[in-house]
Amino acid sequence: MTTTKIATAPHRVLGDHNWHNEAVCQSTEYNPVDPEIFFPEPDETNKITAAKSLCGQCPVRRACLDAALEGGDTDGIRGGLTEEERKPLHKKLAHRFDYSRVNATIAGRDVHLTTAERRAVVHAAYRHGVTEQRLAWLLKITEEHAQKLYREIRRALRNRDLPQNAETIPSPATDGKRLDRDDFGTAA
Ligand code: SF4
Repeated sequence: MTTTKIATAPHRVLGDHNWHNEAVCQSTEYNPVDPEIFFPEPDETNKITAAKSLCGQCPVRRACLDAALEGGDTDGIRGGLTEEERKPLHKKLAHRFDYSRVNATIAGRDVHLTTAERRAVVHAAYRHGVTEQRLAWLLKITEEHAQKLYREIRRALRNRDLPQNAETIPSPATDGKRLDRDDFGTAA
């Protein structure tokens, strides 16, 4: 008996438009497609149905949707979703945190990252001993910037590990005297 493995689609590389070649909405001599169906008015249900039907058979639907969201392309039907259906996704994109994107970046792929994902790449790279030079290459930043990002992590880790004993850090207000409960005011 043979088993079929469904490979996880790799993340689309930034600026990679090769997926266009597999788009079923590409009009050819043998497969003419009216591009107008992808730009319907909200009540043109025939066009919407026709476009969604093509998207439903499209092998690059995910790449198409990602490209539209990451490129801020709010016009027309993309990845099987109308403009109205994509609107909330465009808003949510800035808050995306997808660890597979972080891993893909560490592995050397040039994927689109949100701010949170980018921060996670820096932390993961630091934890795994990735050099500043390679981090710079991975994030397409200068080595100086990569050094600064690592410095910030080192500083944050050092500050986190500082002793929390209040007696070792006298407050200027109390001049080193121990505070009693009443010193915190009536709300305490
Ligand atoms: S998902 Fe739809 S719009 Fe996107 S490439 Fe495929 S057919 Fe075209």
